[in-house]
Amino acid sequence: MTETSFACPVCEALDSTSLYPKYRGKCITSQMFFCEDIQLDNRCCESCGFIFNAKGIRGKEETIYNTTTWKPKPQIISFGKDRKTTHRRALETFMGMADIAQTGSLLDFGAGTGAFLKEFVTEYPGWQVSAIEPGDGHKQLAEIPGLKDAYNAPYYTLEIKDTFDAVVVTSVLEHVADPLGALRWIYDRLKPGGMLIMQHPNFEHLPGDLFCADHINKLTVPHTRALCECAGFEVVAEDVETLTFYFSLIKSDAPTNRLPDCGEQNLKIAKAAEHVAKATVDAVARAVKNAAETNGKAAVFGCTPISFMAHFILDCRQDIACFVDENHHVWGWDIDGIKVVGPQRMQELGITDLAIAISPMYWKAVESSMNDYDVTVHVPTP
Ligand SMILES: [Zn+2]
Repeated sequence: MTETSFACPVCEALDSTSLYPKYRGKCITSQMFFCEDIQLDNRCCESCGFIFNAKGIRGKEETIYNTTTWKPKPQIISFGKDRKTTHRRALETFMGMADIAQTGSLLDFGAGTGAFLKEFVTEYPGWQVSAIEPGDGHKQLAEIPGLKDAYNAPYYTLEIKDTFDAVVVTSVLEHVADPLGALRWIYDRLKPGGMLIMQHPNFEHLPGDLFCADHINKLTVPHTRALCECAGFEVVAEDVETLTFYFSLIKSDAPTNRLPDCGEQNLKIAKAAEHVAKATVDAVARAVKNAAETNGKAAVFGCTPISFMAHFILDCRQDIACFVDENHHVWGWDIDGIKVVGPQRMQELGITDLAIAISPMYWKAVESSMNDYDVTVHVPTP
């Protein structure tokens, strides 16, 4: 039970279960910059099951997203054998899930710098595309060939009269204060039978999002599916195997307005995530302790909110020599004054203990590749 009640952003129920961690201070965002004085007040609604941060940047979205402080990070190349940009991968996934016609009109709801739209118009030059992007990324949208309209304002302030054949939403609903309202807004701007394609971080596989200031909503597959149905969409295909989940949906004749009923299911997901998050912070603590006892140095593997927040939770910034990641796109990043380096630099930096602070989906693979570097690898043990 929570000390102070806060209405669920989806169903407005007041009862929620508090989740780890209780924290207030400097906090990382999904774009990997820090915000000052952020409170983490994660909860799971006891009624509909929605998992959310009652604080974080909630209520400050407009000042965070709609100003120049919001710099979309460079595209990170996806993990796995086929090294593609996340946007290319999203497009290919959508193409495999939905029957996309050769012509039509598309609205990108939260287009960022237009990375997805660029991929889309290259593949489908017959489509007319428009975009909503309240943040600074909007400036780069002008580079998209054939772009019809680009709106530089929050969706709920826009009086768009057009209707579209399709709307795409990639990594947006975890940021918006009212995800059901956003889906209803989209419903009203789709033509009858129109298509909605979406991609979102799967909280079930990303428990580190409990430490993310701006992922104010922690989306799960069952709850998001139910939310879409409530707003009037029918799920026609899903791809839920990776860190992000993809839905292909069509607009149905009328919304069901039936709120999600995922209380039990989501609480189970939330409790498991909480458990993994604590175990990950423990792994960092073990690495620091072991390094101190052996006159060595500790490092943290990963470039995720939990990798970059563990030292705040443990108050041990001076004990982290560097962050380590295999993705060369992030080498040289400076996080709270700590550098991100490739694993090949661990020896020269004197690293003896490496804590794994990433999605559990990659623990095994990273543990085995880090064993080649003559360091003690500390894997979370939930
Ligand atoms: Zn709720």
